[in-house]
Amino acid sequence: MTRVTETDFFILNCLSEGVYAAIAKPGHGAWSNAGFVDLGEELLVFDSFSTPSAGIELRRHAENITGKRAKYLINSHYHGDHVFGNQAFEDTTIISTSLTKKWFIEKNVIGDLEREIEETEKYLNNLKIQIENNQEQVIRDSLINQFNEMSKVLVDLPRLKLVLPTVIFEEKLIIEGSKRKVELHCLGGGHTLSDTFMYLPEEKIAFMGDLVTENLHLPIYNPDEYKSILRQVKEMDIITFVPGHGNVGNREQLNSLERYISVLINSSLQALENNHSIDSFLLEFTTPKEYTEWRGVNGIKDNLTKIYNFYSLANSTKV
Ligand SMILES: [Zn+2]
Repeated sequence: MTRVTETDFFILNCLSEGVYAAIAKPGHGAWSNAGFVDLGEELLVFDSFSTPSAGIELRRHAENITGKRAKYLINSHYHGDHVFGNQAFEDTTIISTSLTKKWFIEKNVIGDLEREIEETEKYLNNLKIQIENNQEQVIRDSLINQFNEMSKVLVDLPRLKLVLPTVIFEEKLIIEGSKRKVELHCLGGGHTLSDTFMYLPEEKIAFMGDLVTENLHLPIYNPDEYKSILRQVKEMDIITFVPGHGNVGNREQLNSLERYISVLINSSLQALENNHSIDSFLLEFTTPKEYTEWRGVNGIKDNLTKIYNFYSLANSTKV
């Protein structure tokens, strides 16, 4: 891996000839990682960052470095920090799963601009209070990062335009260029209802979206499916992982996440088996040492609550 350049938003690494990972600089308005691949005649971009400004910068660098025009943009999932730069790629073919497009339409709604600005300012003020009152260093740092990223989104709000995927697929899509092929895989939904990752079989590189993140309490949508997705990814011949957040890594990123999800699942199931309420479960839970430095504005508690509720609901609906 060689470092190619550094912009205001990201650090660009070349992973293999024609394959690039754009790693977000924390708090600078990119928020999540992206990447691009020279297919031979065309250029494919994976995810578009959290602001139009960062998306435009990504496209500019991608086209300059490869000398090709962007033809495809992949949206790994619907979260704003991965798709709010889509407008920089409006003239390209934007690809996602059908469920990601559905959720994009339903969840990413920008109403009256003045009200959106007012609400974002309110949210930022609230974060400020939390930062002032929080003594835990890791949580404080996470809150500060959230504040910085949302401030960048606020600056770009007046020009933000939501641009939807135009081509949808379900489980697998292969794009073959003259130089190389990329595979888009959706094995279900772990982080959201539908998560896509991109696999380059020749190079053994995968751009994982938020299915893999580094040292982060990433939101978990469905723990069972998440586990099954990670198990299937493990079977694939992948050496290099580009996570949705954090630095480029290897299989250990996958293993670490797998262990994390198992801890969450096992402790939640045990608490339910012992009839512990959610409050006593959270109170009694000791975060394993491996995760004490992981970032997240609410630490591990958000995921513990979500997974406890997930199984509690599953139990209550069992006939
Ligand atoms: Zn996400």
